Amino acid sequence: MTTLHFERALIPEGWATNVRIRIDGGTIASVERDAAREAGDERCGIGVPAIGNLHSHAFQRAMAGLTEKRGEAADSFWTWRDTMYRFALAVTPDDVEAIAAQAYVEMLEAGYGAVAEFHYLHHDVSGAPYANRAEMAERIGAAAAEAGLGLTLLPVFYARSGFGGAPALVEQRRFVNDLDSYAALVADCRRALGSSARVGVAPHSLRAATPNELAGVVALADDAPVHIHIAEQTGEVDACVAWSGVRPVQWLLDHAEVDARWCLVHATHVDEREGLALARSGAVAGLCPITEANLGDGVFPARSFLDAAGRFGVGTDSNVEITVAGELRMLEYGQRLTISARNVCARRGGSTGAALFAGAAAGGAQALARPAGQLAPGAAADIVSLNGDSPLVAGRADDEILDAWIFGGSRDLVDGVWSSGRRVVSGGRHARREAIAARFGEALRRLAAATGA
Ligand code: ZN
Repeated sequence: MTTLHFERALIPEGWATNVRIRIDGGTIASVERDAAREAGDERCGIGVPAIGNLHSHAFQRAMAGLTEKRGEAADSFWTWRDTMYRFALAVTPDDVEAIAAQAYVEMLEAGYGAVAEFHYLHHDVSGAPYANRAEMAERIGAAAAEAGLGLTLLPVFYARSGFGGAPALVEQRRFVNDLDSYAALVADCRRALGSSARVGVAPHSLRAATPNELAGVVALADDAPVHIHIAEQTGEVDACVAWSGVRPVQWLLDHAEVDARWCLVHATHVDEREGLALARSGAVAGLCPITEANLGDGVFPARSFLDAAGRFGVGTDSNVEITVAGELRMLEYGQRLTISARNVCARRGGSTGAALFAGAAAGGAQALARPAGQLAPGAAADIVSLNGDSPLVAGRADDEILDAWIFGGSRDLVDGVWSSGRRVVSGGRHARREAIAARFGEALRRLAAATGA
């Protein structure tokens, strides 16, 4: 049993002072406010929930900074994808484990408590399954366990290269399964990871699965999460309309029982009607504002969606930059730049930082199927302690602290992080930061040589 004592903390009832949180077996056992610190309590600054990162491709952390050169033709998402495929064809299981561990350390240091890993790199370089079909999934699991980050694994179903059932491309061979091999993979992932992770399902996109395949994948979910990339690019919307006559989110809502198990990743290009229907479905919009900016995807129209009580969370996706505060800031700034207004994501009269943080905490927990996102009894003990002595929060009270963190500062404000009650970050640094960074560096040097990057 561990007990933390916070000068102040954000609990479900609002901000409170002198908050004692008892942790038992990875779960918050009790939360007391106005409580004196007792002998043996760990003294902490400002307590907030650690939020769930609802979308990550961990191996792409190895590409950060390598796709920022201008090419001969216009650069786009699709030219970025060419570089990503070169990496995807080069990484070994050891590389994946080393890169994922680095990404997960950075997530924890940023203030995330868990991740939904959208995992599609299944097979060996020839496209054949590994002798252990779940080899790569186990490496992801090992990286999460070493870093101490909560994991929801989403093995990805990928079978097609475009709408209408076009066959997968040769460079997609490490991702590809049919429904039978996919069902075996999901079963193996569940067996291999056991109680250490939640395992959901993930049809990659409407491009990568036929309607029959989509239905077959969703049927494997039971009550586990279902994540899908959707409407990230205008090119994808145009192709979907050419194929079906309707836009991707509309098509999905018409043809699948989209409910609270679902996370629609990106959903960037939704019209007002689709946005309202998505809000009504109870699904989470999985927004990845930094990656969407980096890739030139576009901006999700948040205001009408939030006015309709739409649920959202944030993901680091390509992991080009890993930050909680920065992701939420980019979400808000994208709106401001698009509609020339301020405080777009706030509730009327309320703090923007508080609305962004509360929304992302609840949506992240839902998308990860993890009882987290709040400092309350029964929740996973995913907790961040912010440094109350930082000049960034001097004179700031309650929600102003979140506004200062998101809009005024940096991740240096993150002091301690616990995931499932295990303290993994102290003084802003992960306990295994150096060892994991050294292994990551070796993997990157090898990959640089292998890919000519
Ligand atoms: Zn993605």
